[in-house]
Amino acid sequence: MIPIAKPFLDTTEADAARAAVLSGWLSQGPQVSAFEREFALLTGARHACAVSNCTTALHLALLANGVGPGDEVITSSHSFIATANSIRYCGATPIFVDVDPATYNINPERVAEAVTERTRAILAVHQMGMPCDLKSLMAVANRHGIALIEDAACAIGSQINVDGDWELVGKPRGSIACFSFHPRKVITTGEGGMLTTSDAEIDRNLRLWRQHGMNVPDTVRHRSPQVIFENYVFVGFNYRMTDVQAAVGRKQLERLPELFARRRAIASRYGELLGNLEGLILPFEPEWARSNWQSYCVRLPDRVDQKTVMQNLLDQGIATRRGIMCSHRETPYSNDARRHDLRQSELAQDHSILLPIYAQMTEEDQVRVADALRVELSR
Ligand SMILES: *Cc1c(COP(=O)(O)O)cnc(C)c1O
Repeated sequence: MIPIAKPFLDTTEADAARAAVLSGWLSQGPQVSAFEREFALLTGARHACAVSNCTTALHLALLANGVGPGDEVITSSHSFIATANSIRYCGATPIFVDVDPATYNINPERVAEAVTERTRAILAVHQMGMPCDLKSLMAVANRHGIALIEDAACAIGSQINVDGDWELVGKPRGSIACFSFHPRKVITTGEGGMLTTSDAEIDRNLRLWRQHGMNVPDTVRHRSPQVIFENYVFVGFNYRMTDVQAAVGRKQLERLPELFARRRAIASRYGELLGNLEGLILPFEPEWARSNWQSYCVRLPDRVDQKTVMQNLLDQGIATRRGIMCSHRETPYSNDARRHDLRQSELAQDHSILLPIYAQMTEEDQVRVADALRVELSR
């Protein structure tokens, strides 16, 4: 069986988790702090704040930008539903706009058209690890004085060229970037998330929010020779990461350059193997972007049926997934009154499939996938 994805972990991570368990400090503690420092260093962000997953990261990122009831946040429908849900958590309304069919990322022109008096933020997704057009999106955000938040759940390690220099996604261009360490992403802690920002005050607030609004963290009280009493300055949440997760995350972070290179090599090989398949559209990488290829998405010719192709591949032991979902087609969002044209999003969901990609994938695996797909397209 060739799975759609496979996390890359071995005894290195297992030993780190074991050491964290035996240390006696299990919840957010020294390992979380070290993971945050190393993550900030890697991405070039001034601050990094660890949380329980990327959905909670998105929730806090919106709150930190003052998003609340009555506000609108412009985003992609064509994304995992957590993107839209995080906006609803704040009592705000997601305003879905269409994606660019070449990159599956939000179309900055559609964003500009959707801005109203109520727009508080743009929540831009780096879909499947492909950097979105941050430069154009920042221009829209700055023009209207609204926040730009990056849903970088899939984009850890992805690079973007800004004014001639390559930098990692997460050296935030806008207000905050949010990452996921779910096993389906490029590096994993089981569950986990991270927010990066260059704004010290935002970072301070994120740390309050993730821990019940507690103004003196337990780590500080624990170390202090003096008795300190803490206060709870607002209604916060328990969005903490554990030290066991962070210990695993630190080891995963060390592997990132290797995993990034490996995934890029696999994507490039797919390009060679699939490049001449009639009617198949391969993913497009703009010249200013370097994807980590969290997913490898191909657009099928309109004449072939997506589900049939997927079933036939599955029958041969090859797992695929359909194109990224559209939130506006799901019950919680299907009755939204205001609706922009989302045709490209729907076409992408209905006519694309994600092919297996993971660091351990062999040349033989890739050839099997390509051969099976070739047969499907020639039926
Ligand atoms: C996976 C994903 C999320 C949610 O991440 P979790 O860590 O599972 O909460 C959010 N947005 C996008 C685009 C994702 O792919």
